[in-house]
Amino acid sequence: MEIVPIISRGYDSNVFVVIAEKVAVIDTGLSISRLEQKLRGVIAPERVDYVINTHAHIDHCGGNPLFPNARTLIHELDAKAMSDGRFYGTASLFSGGRSMNYHRVLKEGDVIDLGGAELEVLHTPGHTPGSICLYIASEKALFSGDTLFAGGSFGRSDLGGNMEQLKRSLRRLAALEIEVLYPGHMEVVKGREARESARLAWEIAEEYY
Ligand SMILES: [Zn+2]
Repeated sequence: MEIVPIISRGYDSNVFVVIAEKVAVIDTGLSISRLEQKLRGVIAPERVDYVINTHAHIDHCGGNPLFPNARTLIHELDAKAMSDGRFYGTASLFSGGRSMNYHRVLKEGDVIDLGGAELEVLHTPGHTPGSICLYIASEKALFSGDTLFAGGSFGRSDLGGNMEQLKRSLRRLAALEIEVLYPGHMEVVKGREARESARLAWEIAEEYY
């Protein structure tokens, strides 16, 4: 298995390509054209089998239509925000959205088997109702979307979210063994920094919100 992180700047989300027997792209950034550029030399869009969105904000889903052969997966509680084209109000904040299709909804405990890499779905609501993290237990790797960022910060809860839920989700992540953290924005961290990010975030959320 190989994980290729594509770290973005500004409001664009990070994009992660997980290459095993099958290929998954986790989040797709703001736009098709930007994503097309970023993927050049990494993977041909036709080869991607799954698009997994950590949540239905447009800066994580905008590039979804780039992949002609992929099945799009999103948590059942965020599916409507994708199909209604509003993306919890984030579509109008950016370029203006459009309704997007998905193929399958996810729920807590689902496993996406890529053949040589298993992505386990952790339902971690709070940033949005259907926010998920994806965990690869064999690597202790966590793709955390906007639920958790490196260094103990976390996503906002005012675009469809709920702070009390987010605190509970951060508490859950603080108990998880994390060796590599792949967040939805900003840098990837490993080792001690990865392990401490969730605990710090949980403490900060409890103290200040
Ligand atoms: Zn978000």
